[in-house]
Amino acid sequence: MPRHLEIERLLDEIRAEARATGNYTGRPAFDERVLEALREVPRDEFVPPELRHCAWANRPLPIGHGQTISQPYIVALMTDLIDPRPEHRVLEVGTGSGYQAAVLSRLVSRVYTAERLPELAADATARLRRLGYANIETRCADGRLGWPEQAPFDAVLVAAAATEVPPELLRQLKPGGVLVIPVGAPHEAQQLAAIRVGGDGRASRRDLLPVAFVPLLREAPGPQQERP
Ligand code: SAH
Repeated sequence: MPRHLEIERLLDEIRAEARATGNYTGRPAFDERVLEALREVPRDEFVPPELRHCAWANRPLPIGHGQTISQPYIVALMTDLIDPRPEHRVLEVGTGSGYQAAVLSRLVSRVYTAERLPELAADATARLRRLGYANIETRCADGRLGWPEQAPFDAVLVAAAATEVPPELLRQLKPGGVLVIPVGAPHEAQQLAAIRVGGDGRASRRDLLPVAFVPLLREAPGPQQERP
């Protein structure tokens, strides 16, 4: 099937899944601008070369280091849930391939994205530069701590499941801002949650959908382990 038809078929599948899950998510139809962003960003450039033939399937795919690029429907849902606007500054935790950051970058003014695995962070940074995404800033860091130098954000989007909501991420939201995050223990039931911070600073959480994300991990991996 020609590439542009594969993309349209994927968008149709996302629209159908949005309708089918609308009762839970409160979003039976995603903003067309969100779907347009998914149409524009070449997902086939964000998956390993040997998986390019299934880049336009509505499913997550492995990107190495035990990590995955999220299912396109989930990327669309999380993007829709933050109600992106052209003046927004958004933080993403878990850059992975850089795909979600690229989708966000079409809809908001600036995207900040943190990845804890140095190899993935370096690859995503190089890929986003090569593809010309100029309004995304990447860094290799523990995203559970947010990005204090660039806070506050209009929205924070977390691409890995937390056992508990990292308090720093809530603290770095503007009043009225929203944190979209999968919550739950690894390999147990997770819920995609939308947590909104009101003008009075109080947070209200809504659980939207059962999901399966890789875990949000603590410190960076590598040789800096403590000796006995
Ligand atoms: N948004 C990505 C999907 C990435 S999967 C994409 O579009 O491709 C989740 C990513 O979160 C993984 O790359 C994982 O290494 C990263 N991650 C896990 N814990 C993290 C942490 N504490 N800080 C930053 N990144 C983290």
